[in-house]
Amino acid sequence: MLRWIYPITCELCGESAERSLCPDCMAKLARVPRPICLNCGAPLHSTPESTEACPACFGKPRPYSFVRSALTGNEQNMQLIYRLKYHHAIYLANGLAPALAELRQSIPEPELFRQAVIVPVPTTPTHQQQRGYNQAAELARELGKMLSLKVVHVLQRHETEFNSQTRLSARQRLLNAYRSFSALPAYKTGRRSLPSSILLVDDVYTTGATTRACSRALLRLPGVERVGVLTLVRAELQSHGQQK
Ligand SMILES: [Zn+2]
Ligand SMILES: [Zn+2]
Repeated sequence: MLRWIYPITCELCGESAERSLCPDCMAKLARVPRPICLNCGAPLHSTPESTEACPACFGKPRPYSFVRSALTGNEQNMQLIYRLKYHHAIYLANGLAPALAELRQSIPEPELFRQAVIVPVPTTPTHQQQRGYNQAAELARELGKMLSLKVVHVLQRHETEFNSQTRLSARQRLLNAYRSFSALPAYKTGRRSLPSSILLVDDVYTTGATTRACSRALLRLPGVERVGVLTLVRAELQSHGQQK
């Protein structure tokens, strides 16, 4: 009924579509090229394919089982993310979710994640209040519908002295992130239980600080054994790609 009154059109080409991005436009969005670092999901440019980790990750421990990002951080993809994140274009989550769902094919040991729940990376209470929504939660909800997986809000994000992470160094970002995220008390005490595998969902992967902090908070919870991370966009890719 609603669709009869407000027919859905593709954000990019304007044709009528089932989702806010039509299959043709979705297929044309730039994907993260393979092979990738199995540690952080970055593309491996000049590394032999037998090497599993990129130079930045080599020998570094990781709290999560894997990170996979769907799209590159090129201008078109970042534009879509900005509209979703800052311009109330919540409807874009439903058009972009198929890119996240594609990542299921590249999950290592997929049988371990068959019974997983999806946990979105939370935003701060201030942001939530100002914008009225969390873009990661919107993406998680659409992904959950596509994969028939439950979405659970397990984490909270605290206000820290730095409102934005963008001007911090990598180390400052990580320390800031560790202080920013924690699990809700009901999950810490085990009053609410979780399955052993969790898929953490975020809109953008930048330095991995958020990913690390959220994974660490989740892995401390009773019964949680592994966290896999799916993000829509890999933001740092652009400069990596240009430098080669
Ligand atoms: Zn289109
Ligand atoms: Zn890496």
